[in-house]
Amino acid sequence: MKQVSKIQSVVKIRKEAKKTGRIGFVPTMGAFHEGHLSLMRKAAAECDFVVVSLFVNPLQFGQKEDLTSYPRTLSKDRKKAASVGVDLLWTPTEAALYPDGFQTTIELGEISRCWEGASRPGHFQGVATIVAKLLQIVRPDRLYLGQKDYQQVCVIRRMITDLHFETNVRALPIMREKDGLAMSSRNRRLSADERAVAPILHQALRQAEKQVRHGERNAVTILQAVTETLKSIQRMTVEYVALCDPSSLEALDRLEKEGVLLVAVQLGPVRLIDNVLLKEKG
Ligand code: AMP
Repeated sequence: MKQVSKIQSVVKIRKEAKKTGRIGFVPTMGAFHEGHLSLMRKAAAECDFVVVSLFVNPLQFGQKEDLTSYPRTLSKDRKKAASVGVDLLWTPTEAALYPDGFQTTIELGEISRCWEGASRPGHFQGVATIVAKLLQIVRPDRLYLGQKDYQQVCVIRRMITDLHFETNVRALPIMREKDGLAMSSRNRRLSADERAVAPILHQALRQAEKQVRHGERNAVTILQAVTETLKSIQRMTVEYVALCDPSSLEALDRLEKEGVLLVAVQLGPVRLIDNVLLKEKG
């Protein structure tokens, strides 16, 4: 596996790789766990050349968010990426991606304003802008994203369609710890007590799945049950619990065919998000 930081090096390598096959791309902010590695493995299985970018993107962090405390574990990340078949690890610098005078960003529509977008103003604009820049440089045939960040996948799909980027999005399932907690680079910042109660998110989602299996279709009833479960944990602050259309993310009154249940909470210093697809059948 090669590691480079310069944009020009990536462009040169990408042009060579393109001559012989399909390029897969996994954008990340590092501190790799099985969630990241599952995307890289899939990319390696489906593509001839795999590029992983590792960049903690300041543009997607709010002023009060955890940019400075975001975990940074480059040497471990390098070994992990190499072990799952990544060909190129790209570690761009902030100065190269956001040089003096930088002022162009992606403006998003409705899909970016609800849920995560409402809790984190400017977040998706930062995500879309960096992903657009990375796509321009890497020009991958396939882009690998995790469904853990469900709304992020919807926002990026929308941008790719609307701006005619030529890449196929592959959205892969959430990887979880044994106790159900969705893996996240931020989990390591939970205290032992917080870590012990964190799986309640997944339990609440499982409980909703069960309600639906037993015939419940009313969104209010489903959302109330999830909220009550989460609120049973004193130190947890619920940010939102939403049942929405899986593509538009508009809130649903009733579950018809399919819906996605999204949750976000604050637990100690960490914001946790999780989601599950609910289907009328199955
Ligand atoms: P991040 O480094 O947090 O920006 O994540 C990089 C990519 O990994 C994004 O597409 C995430 O959705 C994905 N990802 C993060 N956590 C998980 C997880 N637990 N399971 C699957 N994918 C994940």
